[in-house]
Amino acid sequence: MDQRIMDYVTEHREDIIRDWQELVNLEGSLREPEYLDIEAEWLKQKFTDAGVSCEIVHTKEHYPPLIRGVLGEDRPGKPVIFAGHFDTVFDRGTFGDHPFRIEGDHAYGPGVLDMKGGIIITLWTIKALEYIGFTDRPVRICFCGDEEGGSDHGPVEDIFRNWTDGCIAGFDMETSPIDHKLCVGRKYVMTGKAVIHGISAHSGNNYEAGRNAITEAAHKVIAIQNMNNMELGTHMNPAVISGGTVANAIPGECTLTFSGRFRYKTEIERVKQELHELFSSSVIEGTTSEYTLTDPFGGFETSEQIMGLWKFVNDVCVEEGLHEVGHVFLGGGSDASGMAESGTPVLCSCGVRGEWNHTDREYASVSSMSERICMWTSVLQHMNEFNV
Ligand SMILES: [Zn+2]
Repeated sequence: MDQRIMDYVTEHREDIIRDWQELVNLEGSLREPEYLDIEAEWLKQKFTDAGVSCEIVHTKEHYPPLIRGVLGEDRPGKPVIFAGHFDTVFDRGTFGDHPFRIEGDHAYGPGVLDMKGGIIITLWTIKALEYIGFTDRPVRICFCGDEEGGSDHGPVEDIFRNWTDGCIAGFDMETSPIDHKLCVGRKYVMTGKAVIHGISAHSGNNYEAGRNAITEAAHKVIAIQNMNNMELGTHMNPAVISGGTVANAIPGECTLTFSGRFRYKTEIERVKQELHELFSSSVIEGTTSEYTLTDPFGGFETSEQIMGLWKFVNDVCVEEGLHEVGHVFLGGGSDASGMAESGTPVLCSCGVRGEWNHTDREYASVSSMSERICMWTSVLQHMNEFNV
């Protein structure tokens, strides 16, 4: 590796940790937009100091902000983008005051891994690039405040897609698995809700006049489960069911909530078609159904381009004497989804390595912080060799 990168990161180790500590200690979940405004201001200051032209964007009132920016807009090459989120699943104060702490190689605190570590990697990669005089291409950033289950994430996804459009590569600085792997695909989630209408009747006096909505729903539950395709990674889950009123009445209505996780968009289309057929017919004559589906979200499909980018990154690691990165397909969603919609090759899980996100055991490997700053700085240094 370029000795200057190594020296820069070693020399600034304390500063890097201090930034990490400050950001983790700011705290805030997406339910606390006022705290996320404070975080966005902190990020804007830090990235501006590093030379990035930043703006804070509000997609609606009383909702967490997003920060995006660019450094070296006039540079000749296609831009690279680093992205992710600064909200965490934890409300402020969940772990007491000043929760960031280090024990051995483990750093603790809400979001230390998911994914404030990745933001600090981005900041210091940019600073290291400036230090070595990198001017090959613009570097963009985009971090949102509502990734962990935001109710109105659509406009934010559009910004991720637009800001990634035209880039040579995108890196989502999410949590990395402890074993150095980068994520090359994630599953889409789609949820649905159905109402099955039957005919209620006294279960003794008018049995034959009734049409049992729960029984009809039971047929549909089995049918939905059978839409699985384990080989293709399609997992259907009938998740919540409710219906009926009292034991001596035939239930006239039943609601059913279900979800599916998909590796491939073609599978989403297949399941949508089968759901349409399922809910427009019935086993028990006289019952009817209606249903709604959410748009599939959170996923991105592995492609040749994405695998090409992964191989390029791994080759740089080998050449520069860094730890090799494996690759993994993950079940949970991320903002790599919106980024990949742009057609730019994207890798996810580019942040600090660690375990147990979303729990009080969450920790990040402290050494992975310097390791990945060196890694991404080296990758950008070599980016001219990347052929899409
Ligand atoms: Zn995350």
